[in-house]
This record gives sequence, C-alpha cells and structure tokens, in this order.
Amino acid sequence: MRTPLPGLAPTISLFSLLFSAMGPAASKAQAGWETAPSAFVVLRDSGPAAVRAFAQDLERAGGHVAIVYPPRSAVVFADATALADAAVIERITSAHRTEVDAGSLREFGGETERAGMAWSASLALEPQGLGDEPLHGVWPDALRRPQVLGKGLESPQTAINTHRPLGAEYYDTSEFMAGTSVVGVWLLEAAGATYEWTTSETNQTLGGVQSGLANWVRKGGPSAFLTFTLDIHTSVPVSGVPIENPMTDDATWAGEALTNAGYAGANAFERCFAYNNAMRDLYDTNWCYSIFIADSNPAVNQGLFSGGGYAWAYFGGPWIYMSRYSTWAYNFLRYYAVVPMHETGHIFMDTDEYNTALEYAGYLNAPDNPSGTVQCIMNQNDSTRVCPDTRNQIGWRDLDVDSVIEPLDVAPAVQLAVYSPDPTSNATPTWTGAADVMTLPNLNPMSNYFPPHDQTIVTIDSVECRVDGGPWSAASPGDGTFNGYSESFSWTSPSLGNGIHVAQARARTSVGIWSDVFATDTLTIAGAVGVDSGSPPALASVAVVPNPLQSEAQIFFATPSDGEVRLEVYSIEGRRIRVLLAGARSAGAGRIAWDGLDDGGRPVRSGLYIVRLLSPSGAALTKTVIMR
Ligand SMILES: [Zn+2]
Repeated sequence: MRTPLPGLAPTISLFSLLFSAMGPAASKAQAGWETAPSAFVVLRDSGPAAVRAFAQDLERAGGHVAIVYPPRSAVVFADATALADAAVIERITSAHRTEVDAGSLREFGGETERAGMAWSASLALEPQGLGDEPLHGVWPDALRRPQVLGKGLESPQTAINTHRPLGAEYYDTSEFMAGTSVVGVWLLEAAGATYEWTTSETNQTLGGVQSGLANWVRKGGPSAFLTFTLDIHTSVPVSGVPIENPMTDDATWAGEALTNAGYAGANAFERCFAYNNAMRDLYDTNWCYSIFIADSNPAVNQGLFSGGGYAWAYFGGPWIYMSRYSTWAYNFLRYYAVVPMHETGHIFMDTDEYNTALEYAGYLNAPDNPSGTVQCIMNQNDSTRVCPDTRNQIGWRDLDVDSVIEPLDVAPAVQLAVYSPDPTSNATPTWTGAADVMTLPNLNPMSNYFPPHDQTIVTIDSVECRVDGGPWSAASPGDGTFNGYSESFSWTSPSLGNGIHVAQARARTSVGIWSDVFATDTLTIAGAVGVDSGSPPALASVAVVPNPLQSEAQIFFATPSDGEVRLEVYSIEGRRIRVLLAGARSAGAGRIAWDGLDDGGRPVRSGLYIVRLLSPSGAALTKTVIMR
C-alpha cells in the first residue's frame, strides 16, 4: 500500500556516483544475456522437463529463460547467436521478436495461445525499465565468472524430491530473490456483469506481470539468476465484487478462489501456502507465491478498492493482492508492469522506500533508505532503478565483489573418510568422502519462522582430490552426478610408493565457491605389511604410525637393496635418542615397533622427533610427534 507523496526533489543517486567513478567497468558489465533482446519461444515438447532441458541448452548458448509460460512457451533473453544455437533450435518450433499472431499458436494449445497474446501485449509496455542504471551496481565484475548458477535448473539428485532450498520448510517460500520461482496468477472475475475481464484486459495484465518480473530478472543478472514460471488462472469466479470491497478483504476472495480450485486449509493463507507449495513441487522451483488481481475500471474511483489502495503484498508471501488498473498509482502509465514488480519486491522482503521509516528486512537484515527520496522500484514504482538498499534487502549484497550474492557466497564443507586398513599394501588406494553445501545464517526479522531458517539454493558442483600436494584431479560422484546439496564421492590415487602419504579433498558449489578448508587423510603404504615384499621398492622410505603417537608406534620402512641398515630416532636438536635397528637386511619392506622409550629405557618427552633410515641405497627421514 502507499500514501501519496509530494513531488520529489531532484537527487543524485549513489549509483550514478559509483558508476561515473568506475567508468569502463560499467560497460563491461553490459555484455551478458541481461541486455540481450527478449524473444517469445514455443517449445517442441511440453512439460516441466522439456522446459528445464531447453533452459539448460539456452544457458550454454549464452541466453536465459526469464519467464516460463507452462506447458511449452517462454520469454527468453537471447541474442541472435544464442537463438541460432543448434541445440536450442532443436528444442523450439518458433521464436518471435515482435508481436505474434495468436492464431498461429492455436495448434500448440490454449495456454500457448494465451501466452503469445500476453507476450504481444507486453511489447506495448517497452521499454522494460532498464533505464540508465547499470545492471549490476553492487557487483561491477558480475560477468567475469561463468554463469554457473544455471545448475539450479537441473533436475535435483534422486535424494532430493524437490528443488526446495536446503533448509527451507513449508512457509519458507520467498526468503531471498535468487533462483527459480513459480507465481500463481489469479484473475478474479467479479460476480454479476459490473466488471468483466475482456480478452484485451487479460492480455494487458498478463503481459504486465511478465514484463515486471522480467525486469527483476534483468536487474538481478547472472548473480541472481532468476526465472519466473507463471501458473495462470483466468476468469476465476468469486461470489462478490472485490474492487467494490476494502483491500483488507483480500483473504475472502483469495480464499474462495483457492477453495474452488481444490486447495484445503483452515483459512485463505493456509490454502494459498498449500497451492503455492504444490506448484513449487510441480515445477521444481526454489520459491513460490501468488498474485490475485481484481478487475477494476479506472473510470470508477480511479480503479481503487473501496476505502483506497490499489495493491499490497505480504512479506515472505503468500500473496500479492492488486487492482487490475488504477490511475491513482505511482507510474500508472506502466501500472501493469511496475505494480507486480514492486509488490514482488515485498514478497521477497523488500520494504517501501517512499516512507521515511528506517526499516530492516531480509535474509541479511539490511536497512532501507529512510530519506524517502531515493529513486527505486520500491519508491514511486520507478522500475528503471533498483536502489542499493532494496538490493541488500532481497539478498543482492556482495561486499567482497566476487559476483556471488551473500546468501549464496558460502564455502562448502568436505570430508574424507579415514582409509582402512592403515597401513596398507595397496599402492593405489581409493578414498571416499562427502561434500555438503553450507548456509549463511538467516537474520531475516520478517521470516515466517522464528528463529528464521538458514537456507541456500546452491548445490555441490564438483569435488577434486590430490595426494602429497600434487595436482588436483576430479573425484567421482557417488550417484553419478554432482548436483545435490549433499554428495558422496570416491577418488583413486595414482600409484604411490611406500611411506606416508597425505590425501586432500576440496569441493565447489554451483556458484563457483571452493571449500576454504581441505579435508585430509594420512595413509601409510607399506608394501606387503609385516613380511618382506616380493619386489624391492625404488627408494628407501620410512613412516611412523600412528603419528602423532602417545606411547608406542609401528615404524614402517623399506630399502631397495641388501646391506647394512640403521633405523634411529633423534631429537629435534639432533641428539640421538634411540637405535631401533642396526644390522644387515635384505631389500624390501619391514616394520619394527617403538615403545616410545629412549636407549636408557626412559619415556621420551612430548615433542617433535626425527626418525632416520640409513641404507646402502640412501637415507630417508620422517618426523613424528609424541603427545603424552
Ligand atoms: Zn509497497
């Protein structure tokens, strides 16, 4: 809701200052799909799986699906090259840059025909509101990183039934604005003949919803990676005339529509969450909400609900409630686009910027701008601007400027299982482990839960291992694909010589963030343990297991040739502590126990010690720590 404001004094936005100072960086950020022209495409196949496959192919070709009109059409951002990509062409029957003849779409079903009409109507709402604002005010190098968030569109691994965010529960339906959302669009048909949705009004309204949401997609760019799927219900009959009733009666009409559509629940809000979640599962999206739109006539009361107001929304969902058209609204000439856009900001935790209250909101618990004068979609429906504080509230903050918004900018955890047996005679051991995405603490004061749930939409994208600080190489996913919130993996090392080896693992998320702490496991390779090995090792080696040791350890060693062998323990200062072995031996591996005593039979003190092997073919050293 809004209150009328006097005209604004001219003001210089923080963004203009930032970007005039930055110069070339701003133009570099203009090179992605967000600035590519939009197109309406009809897919060859229908259904969520076909849309996902198309979205992935288009992404690889450098485009992006902004709006999905189920079951088989979409609005995309794609330049000519992307639309000409072989895999993309394979999946579509037609692509349109300009108005499309609805009749030509009839063979693809009523939904496709309606989508084509909405697309055509949206063209009248151009420009889409990109304005003069740089697209990525808070991440000037946004396009430096490959657009890997497209992974979010993949089918989830089998262990995850839906692509609900990790940590999100039933009422967590719009916690930050990134990833995929399904939007239920309900055009409420008033009882009687006072207000009737005409085809042209329907097209105009749907085209506006499409245009307003597409504007968020462009403004978010590759770091927010938004796709909105519209689940459309036209001419939904209700028993009264919503526009002639107060806006606060929204639950009456929404509840009635949802009941008639078969959604159960104690009240309208419960029914709407039931519907929203059902759609989230059906279309496999991260988030979900609804828009209920009452038919209105701007010639009557300026298209306002009785008692005033034309639109409102609930922070965190479940719905937006709005008049079809009001000449009283801010930016009423582009009402159809800017009002759904503004109210969607509220759904994703944005507060209004036209009041002078200092309000904190969103996953990052970020403040808005209390001046009341900032240019913004959340102030006066100025869709050419998404002001910095509004970006922060929906989670688009990126203080470290790595092109990853903060709710997603969290390093994954990785673990390696302890290899067993240790020591082993297996020169090519296979390690197993697990990688898990991690969540940023959710500070949202307006979440539907208290305390709010920590959530993320990133997945594990790859795991790599190495041994002894060598080159990293890819580990294999346990279930065939790295694409879930939690993934098991295995990795077989290249052939290792006798001695102690250190294996390490690291994981990467779908937004390109690597583990900041490697998992490690130490393993002793000891030829044929306890007996002479058949073939002598190439180099002399020695290892202590366990290490650190408390009171006793096994010392594994190997010598390539026959002859005199000495195995000794030294203090870190170079003083000899113990002679473990001195005499002739044949080539091969052996082991000897050390009881942690010195040559005088006294326990050696805690600290660092050197174990040295001397053989005719060379010396080998290893360190060991005694922790008493
Ligand atoms: Zn508002």
